[in-house]
Amino acid sequence: MLLIECPWCGPRDQTEFSYGGEAHIVRPVRPDTLSDAEWADYLFMRTNTQGRFREQWCHVHGCRRWFNVERDTVSYRIDSVYKVGEMPPEPKE
Ligand SMILES: [Zn+2]
Repeated sequence: MLLIECPWCGPRDQTEFSYGGEAHIVRPVRPDTLSDAEWADYLFMRTNTQGRFREQWCHVHGCRRWFNVERDTVSYRIDSVYKVGEMPPEPKE
């Protein structure tokens, strides 16, 4: 069980949140100019990182806001939590 610190509500149990996948996926500026393969790549292809990974979470049973979490996918340790539109803090190591 993870304890996730919502940037607005503070630390809460993982069961209050919904996972939203990889963070920082930027929508193409001109999607109409993309080939089918490029569009499919944007929609479906994600990295499968082993280790430090930036992902989106939504506090669905709280403030209902989206934010980003930098988490180690092996140890599940959460290194940082930051709001959408912000840059992640520098690593502590
Ligand atoms: Zn919240």
